[in-house]
Amino acid sequence: MLIETFIRKQLRLKAHTVTKVEEAGECMRVHIDRLGQRLLRCGVCRRRCSQVHDIRKEREWRDLSMRKLPLKLRYRPRRVECPRCGVRVEDFPWAEPWARVTTALFNAVAMLARELSWQGTARQYGLNWKSVATIVKRAVEYGLRHRARPTVRVIGMDEVSRRKGQVYLTVVYDLERRVLLWVGDDRTEEAVRPFFTKEMGTRRCHTLRVVCMDMWAPYANLVREYATHAQILFDRFHIVKHLNEAVEEVRRSEMRRLSLKERVVFKRSRWLLLKNPWNLNPGQKERLSTLVRWNVPIVRAYYLKESFQLFWDYKQCKRSRLDPFKRFVRMLRSHLDGVLPWTRIRLSNAAVEGMNNKIKSISHRSFGFRTATNFIAAIYHCCARLPLLVER
Ligand SMILES: [Zn+2]
Repeated sequence: MLIETFIRKQLRLKAHTVTKVEEAGECMRVHIDRLGQRLLRCGVCRRRCSQVHDIRKEREWRDLSMRKLPLKLRYRPRRVECPRCGVRVEDFPWAEPWARVTTALFNAVAMLARELSWQGTARQYGLNWKSVATIVKRAVEYGLRHRARPTVRVIGMDEVSRRKGQVYLTVVYDLERRVLLWVGDDRTEEAVRPFFTKEMGTRRCHTLRVVCMDMWAPYANLVREYATHAQILFDRFHIVKHLNEAVEEVRRSEMRRLSLKERVVFKRSRWLLLKNPWNLNPGQKERLSTLVRWNVPIVRAYYLKESFQLFWDYKQCKRSRLDPFKRFVRMLRSHLDGVLPWTRIRLSNAAVEGMNNKIKSISHRSFGFRTATNFIAAIYHCCARLPLLVER
């Protein structure tokens, strides 16, 4: 088989043909021309057009490599007279109208960018970082437009910090399918509202049954406003986090009151108090028992935490005279409708935590994205299971 024929078949050309393949230094150049008088299609509506208006100057598209040589397609695009759209550039079967790479290369780059950093992907394909960024953003645009939108019943909402906690994004997951649904560029009501109004819409909001989230008022307000049938469920992971913060606050204020000598004993006691007791080694248990013999408030904080872990009972906390715990209980009570269902519905945000870790690794491997737009595109690209371009 001639190489021209081979490439024509690979590109699945029907109204075009390969006229010549030549080795040109660092690449293989593939010359393409129109095949006789075959009808070309309109680049906008893809309808067949009988009239060619004019021939434009030659363009070049990067394609996948053959062995080590990248293929470059060259062709002079025609402009057709479309009965519906007027004079338009024709439709290229090997690439999207805006693309400077073929759909095959586009998809290969997009798939690798799900596994590697944009920099690493660029190196692999001999492209620059910017080309990869453009490809990923185009892929996400396409994917969001073409993805399936099945009924959503259980979602998790969470914040993700960017630049070490200075900037927050909001991520929303479908917890049943374990897939990312939406990313917002902040965690305010205004920033998250489009999830309910645009991404979900009134009809799909009505099918929401359970929303898991941190105790973050803007999220809860939005759910109460748009998803009236949904039960808000505060995540156990976040409750424990708040509880640990209360223990830590008691410990820190006690530390300030201790003498220097006593302080040595309590040094690095934080993890002793926060760890589950069955995870401590004998030495740590010993230190913990010294600690609890010495300092009453810390002990009380510790036992409250433990009893809460065991029983999820808040009454004991309420009776204690430790301010951080009283505050914790107040917070809990004000959110009680969301905390109590936890005991009935055993649903964990573990899936959310897994996804958040994935997002963290995306952020790390790219040395932190400088712009939110790029970071958001990368999150969608790696976590939303978006469909890729269809090769025609
Ligand atoms: Zn048209």
